[in-house]
Amino acid sequence: MSALIFASLSFNTSQAHAKSDNFTAEQLSQVADIKKQALESDLAWNLVESLTTEVGPRMPGTPGDKAGVAWAVAQFKAMGFDKVWTEPATFPKWIRYSESAAVVSPAPQTLHITALGNSISTPKEGIEAQVIEFENLAELENAADNAAKGKIVFINYRMDRDRDGNGYGPAVKARSRGAVVAAQKGAVGYVMRSVSTATHRFAHTGGSHYEEGVTKIVSSAISNADADQLHRLVALGKPVTININVQAKSMGEGTSYNVIGEFTGSEFPNEHVLIGGHLDSWDLGTGALDDGAGIAITMAAAKFATLKGQPKRSIRVVLFAAEEFGLWGAKAYAKANEKTLSNIVAAAESDFGADKIWAFESNVHASSLPLVSEIAAMLKPLNVEYIANNSARNGPDLIPLRPFKVPAFALSQDGTDYFDYHHTADDTLDKIDPAKLRHNVASYAIFAYMAANAKTRIIGK
Ligand SMILES: [Zn+2]
Repeated sequence: MSALIFASLSFNTSQAHAKSDNFTAEQLSQVADIKKQALESDLAWNLVESLTTEVGPRMPGTPGDKAGVAWAVAQFKAMGFDKVWTEPATFPKWIRYSESAAVVSPAPQTLHITALGNSISTPKEGIEAQVIEFENLAELENAADNAAKGKIVFINYRMDRDRDGNGYGPAVKARSRGAVVAAQKGAVGYVMRSVSTATHRFAHTGGSHYEEGVTKIVSSAISNADADQLHRLVALGKPVTININVQAKSMGEGTSYNVIGEFTGSEFPNEHVLIGGHLDSWDLGTGALDDGAGIAITMAAAKFATLKGQPKRSIRVVLFAAEEFGLWGAKAYAKANEKTLSNIVAAAESDFGADKIWAFESNVHASSLPLVSEIAAMLKPLNVEYIANNSARNGPDLIPLRPFKVPAFALSQDGTDYFDYHHTADDTLDKIDPAKLRHNVASYAIFAYMAANAKTRIIGK
């Protein structure tokens, strides 16, 4: 674009927003230019391509996780962040070795299965038993004691597809607690329909838990296609016997690191915008959508937000450790930084794939809402809708910050397809659309720039 055309564009933008209480006309013109440049840049794509290719899967405590931490430190430095540091986080380490399953009778065939995180191993030859099917976790909970005695419990609950991922909550309970409830009913093994909206034949892994005093039984999930098949076999009315073979191990306490990069503010260096994602992933795929994309989006957004020079307030990108095992990095971050959490002027996490952002929502003190609506107005041309309820729930790693009244924001991605790939071998780079990734970077960059450079700081409620 010629300098002349650019000058006229800037002029129009300044004119259009001349009445702002929180920003100068020059700042609003900078927002327009940041947006334009972010929408033309492959920076985030290059980052997520590098992470998923040169590092690959990053399950907490594995060599891949360690390589991910080294990658992030090196990238932050190469991108020119003013400060780069790590903070340790510990977590219960778990390793998967192998997993397989099959229908033994009445119609022998392979089942596509995955162990759920934290699962114990079966004996070397697997565990073989008759299947007893339940519609959902509640039905299992309400069953008589010993209802599943000596059997393998199969929960066949199918999650709903939804733009906001609202189907996930009801489905994930069976993943988190299913093996515990099954064991309480006398089961010797547990398998569930994957927490998934997919039609492919990949099983979806994810965190699961045992309870003190309850017998630990193998905890696993099969693909949607295999759950359909197992359901049809059970519906025939004859006993269905399956074999599940999982080899996995709990390894005691592991350590990883939150990796943090910051562009230092010029006027209020202690106050900061916090954006980020989680650096770890499950082991089955390469963690492209979950959460390589979020890492790349927020790292690139911080770079674009500082394109025009040092921000007034600092912009901090936090790449959280061991999210998938239970928010261990986030909990460590909240603890280690407890005294400075009140310095956060805006926090948002990108951890819902790589589709376009469709909504913007805040959770802040009422006095900051005029400023929030100015940010929303700048996001609107990107087709980002302002949801003015001021009750945003932001990303999982920001949950431990909620008690500290941190001003919270949601830049909500369209998650309609997210649970087709989530926690599977199919979570790979080819699922990311570079144009949609740029749209995310532009949205986050506008948000970070405006929160960091506004006349007054945003306060929480
Ligand atoms: Zn995630």
